[in-house]
Amino acid sequence: MLLGPPGAGKGTQAQIIAGRFGVPAISTGDIFRANVSGQTELGQQAKTYMDAGDLVPDEITVAMVKDRLAEPDAKAGFLLDGFPRTIAQAEQLRESLTELGHQLDCVLELVVDEDELVRRLSGRRMLVDGEMVQRDDDKPETVRHRLQVYREQTAPLSGFYETEGLLARIDAIGEVDEVTARALAACGAPEPGQPAAG
Ligand code: AMP
Repeated sequence: MLLGPPGAGKGTQAQIIAGRFGVPAISTGDIFRANVSGQTELGQQAKTYMDAGDLVPDEITVAMVKDRLAEPDAKAGFLLDGFPRTIAQAEQLRESLTELGHQLDCVLELVVDEDELVRRLSGRRMLVDGEMVQRDDDKPETVRHRLQVYREQTAPLSGFYETEGLLARIDAIGEVDEVTARALAACGAPEPGQPAAG
């Protein structure tokens, strides 16, 4: 699982690390955005919260993640990106994982200071239909609110998983491949080309 504030690089690292392990990267933000573009009922429910930089209510988010984890490609493992984001979500996740017969191997916290986060988020652009566009929730006022939401609702997860002995924290400033190397080392993953232990 990847934990960290908006702009810490979770999405980028999730794709690389999940690829390395051959498991899907499950990003709740991506699933919500796909539903907003597809104008589904879920997308309509989520959009107001997302645009305001608030969290989508736990009830909606947890139900969506449960469905996703039950899909066949998640049977052999997965990497969670952007979920859980509240203690209540973490508790629900624990129950779902027990039901599915899975357990968390590692919770990786990407640490980046707030000035750098604001700088990264305000400069971030995404490719949509061949054009580079700014996400509505990357606008400066919304960015500040999202960081506050992170501090208040999501940052406590760091202590939650530390108590469970699952937390590894890494400095997430630097080149993408340096951060990936720190991430893999912190979670005890083998170097590329080396056999997995055990
Ligand atoms: P992200 O792409 O992870 O930054 O997520 C974008 C937005 O989707 C967030 O600001 C929330 O509005 C919503 N979202 C994503 N993941 C969650 C979650 N686990 N719980 C509640 N809302 C979420």
